[in-house]
Amino acid sequence: MAAPRRRGPADNAAMRILLAEDDHGLGEWLRRALEQAGHRVDWRDDGRLAERALGEADHDVLVLDLGLPGLGGHELVQRLRARGSPLPVLVLTARDSLAERVSALHEGADDFLAKPFALAELEARLTALVRRARGLERPRLACGRLQFDPATRQFLLGDEPMPLSPREHGLLAALILRSGEPMSRRDLVERVFADDDDVQPAALDVLMHRLRRRLDGSGVHIQTYRGLGYALEPEPTGPAA
Ligand code: CA
Repeated sequence: MAAPRRRGPADNAAMRILLAEDDHGLGEWLRRALEQAGHRVDWRDDGRLAERALGEADHDVLVLDLGLPGLGGHELVQRLRARGSPLPVLVLTARDSLAERVSALHEGADDFLAKPFALAELEARLTALVRRARGLERPRLACGRLQFDPATRQFLLGDEPMPLSPREHGLLAALILRSGEPMSRRDLVERVFADDDDVQPAALDVLMHRLRRRLDGSGVHIQTYRGLGYALEPEPTGPAA
């Protein structure tokens, strides 16, 4: 059995986060903490490198320090919005720098957090931003009868908790964050096995097979889109909610 070798990455709706922060102590801590919470983090310590990373992967949210070498945070947000990108941006600011916050808002940032901050607050703000960006204002992420409650970190089918292994939970969490939209194999592997540098491609197939069996009869299924990936979708002919 493919039991997780280390602490499972899977007890949260996994986000792919781009972190632009040049303070190495803070950056290292944030990356480790967010990855332990089940998220995938790409960390860059330079504004130009962060901008390049945005073109290389499909991130859910950008956590941005304003004082960055290469390309400043203010300019990075301006360029992002000038290109028409809707990517949610949370700016990390120095405490009490009201002017800094106001100007970043005008430039297109979505939220702020003053340093120092608690990890739980950062994570809650990021989750809210991602949900808002996806038009998911409801307190729960849902697909058909299947719901994910971020407060308890549980999947519910109707009113019943759904038993899942940590990896199954991680895969379903990644899929429900973007239900109805195909996610690539690579993206899924990077999110679900973020704690495992040595994962074999077949591991995703095994996990996908197990999760599909769990979803049998649920009214929700995982559709394969050749060349694009996998999407979580309600079955039109499935049992009514
Ligand atoms: Ca800085």
